[in-house]
Amino acid sequence: MAGKSKSDKKHVTSKVWQNYEVKGDSLSRKNVVCPKCGSGVFMAEHSNRRTCGRCHYTEFKGKQ
Ligand SMILES: [Zn+2]
Repeated sequence: MAGKSKSDKKHVTSKVWQNYEVKGDSLSRKNVVCPKCGSGVFMAEHSNRRTCGRCHYTEFKGKQ
């Protein structure tokens, strides 16, 4: 009895939503305000530095 074994196609439901965590808290923590522009202007976070998109002030991160 060699029945055709149906290839079990798993219905992959892309759980995209799980990858999008609510980062509201971490965002407010990560964003650093530009010391030159003052409050309201946040600096872009890079791997080794932060840069201000407004005045281009760059702040290099030290060794962590
Ligand atoms: Zn700035």
